[in-house]
Amino acid sequence: MYMHTLGTAMETSKRQVLGISGLMPVRVESFEIQKKRALKQLRSKQAPIEKYIFMAQLRTTNVRLFYKIIVDHLEELAPVIYTPTVGTACLEYSNIYPFLAGPGVPDGLYLTKADHATLCKTIRQYRPFPSESAFDPQIAVISDGSRILGLGDLGVNGMGIPIGKLQLYVAGAGIDPRRTLPIMLDLGTNNKKFLEDEFYLGLRETRPADEEFYETVDTVLNALKTVYPNMIIQFEDWSSEHAFGLLEKYKSEITCFNDDIEGTGAVILSGAINAIRKVHSESNVEPTNHRIVFYGAGSAAIGVAKQIQTYFEKEFDIPEEDAKKMFWIVDSKGLVTLDRGDNLAQHKIYYARQDNEEQQYKDLMDIVNYVRPTALIGLSSTPGAFTPDVLGRLAEINEQPIVFPLSNPATLAECTFEQAMESTDNRVIFASGTAFPAYTIASTGEVRTPGQGNNMYVFPGLGLGAILARSTVISDNMIYAASKALADSLTPEEQARGWLYPSLTRIRAVSAIVAAAVCQESVNEESAQSEEIKAITSHDELVQYVSERMWSPSQDNYGSDSLIALQK
Ligand code: NAP
Ligand code: MN
Repeated sequence: MYMHTLGTAMETSKRQVLGISGLMPVRVESFEIQKKRALKQLRSKQAPIEKYIFMAQLRTTNVRLFYKIIVDHLEELAPVIYTPTVGTACLEYSNIYPFLAGPGVPDGLYLTKADHATLCKTIRQYRPFPSESAFDPQIAVISDGSRILGLGDLGVNGMGIPIGKLQLYVAGAGIDPRRTLPIMLDLGTNNKKFLEDEFYLGLRETRPADEEFYETVDTVLNALKTVYPNMIIQFEDWSSEHAFGLLEKYKSEITCFNDDIEGTGAVILSGAINAIRKVHSESNVEPTNHRIVFYGAGSAAIGVAKQIQTYFEKEFDIPEEDAKKMFWIVDSKGLVTLDRGDNLAQHKIYYARQDNEEQQYKDLMDIVNYVRPTALIGLSSTPGAFTPDVLGRLAEINEQPIVFPLSNPATLAECTFEQAMESTDNRVIFASGTAFPAYTIASTGEVRTPGQGNNMYVFPGLGLGAILARSTVISDNMIYAASKALADSLTPEEQARGWLYPSLTRIRAVSAIVAAAVCQESVNEESAQSEEIKAITSHDELVQYVSERMWSPSQDNYGSDSLIALQK
């Protein structure tokens, strides 16, 4: 029988009471020693995937220690439990799954097409640890595996994403891990390699047509709502062709959001706000004069453009029709225009240009020369697309060109920080999706740290805020409030260094500020149901209230309670 225990930290008397005295060595260890050993083991592993497997196994044997390590060493562990390593783990998931989890200690909930009653039963049966009697999740992350990171359709192998994402909620905002629910909705896969792989663990069939797809998702969401009416649902890594439609359909019905669209939008807006402020104060660029080119037109790009547009509308009173024209969107076929001669996907139509259709620009350099952008944002998964020539041209047009190559992982980024610095005479205002190393300017010895538009700055705090406010919706205004709070969360030292984002080492303090802003907006919009939150009148008090509700692994004996249950 598999048991969640405190492992070697369990006191002798307790071992005796439980009748497990001989089942482990006599030494009773401190939590710190356990952590020290585990870190030593972890660091001795060379391959990132080995580190991933080590951590996943640690979760099944000593869950409290697992979370202690990711909370205390988030900067080191985030790349192990999430990008980039989670990408490799997802590619390998059917190969490694049997050694990470199983019905005894599940890694998440696997759902597939079924009727309402069957789904409800399956959902009710799920326990993160079978020995725990009650399970009352506050937040679920759900994927159908159809667009995992930039890796395409990975089917059921995509389960690594909901799992990793929820672990970041725990580490970043102190959501109680016992109240998180990773869900994989297995609707088959169109990945030929997986369909032929003898080890592939998901449904061996191709994905259903749209009608069946939407009907199945609807049944699943209804069942989740029936069993856990107050649970927040976060959509993650659904293909763009479905992601927008699902969000639009369910946004007003259930407490949900899509991190690829809305979370990314909020995080990048926040960096953009600080970039816009910076070029305003240092180079006299009026915020209303920005011209922004998006290279890439997927869920992330459209989500980010919409958020930045909202900022222009709200803060500078620009009417929607004019604000919209500050954006030029480029996809794999070139500049997105209304009469390009192809059927534009629904989500691209809003930004499709009507003022330059005859040119049919394809090449980025041509587009840059035509638009003369102040900012270039890459969300295209096309490495090297921002060539030295393009960057150099931007630096001719702008005193301080804003360049955000946001594609993940670093190998997919449109350019590196080094390239951006070298091609712009070190004048670039830069943020990337994956962290790039700092750059030392040879002539002066000055060290510049690039910004990282990491989604982790927003979604944990957004989730925590919505949970604590007991909000009935996650509205655009709540997401916007989260973004602005993040932009304003930098310390005077961080501002003095010219950073666009705060240090990730302060993630919990930042999440508290974000969560407080989300709670406040929820109260303003009257979607908050928490009387406690409604009664709080000052910002500082709200931040404190939120901070005090963050779960921390040292504060509780997570793991020991399941043993006691076992004893009954
Ligand atoms: P997606 O839905 O697959 O969209 C990719 C877009 O890039 C599509 O519009 C595609 O064009 C376009 N594209 C592909 N090749 C191109 C080319 N050669 N030139 C111009 N456009 C090209 O993916 P997504 O969810 O939007 O994510 C895109 C990237 O953003 C990923 O690398 C992801 O890791 C990254 N991302 C970063 C953050 C962050 O930094 N915080 C957050 C989310 C996502 P078509 O529409 O014509 O196919
Ligand atoms: Mn994602």
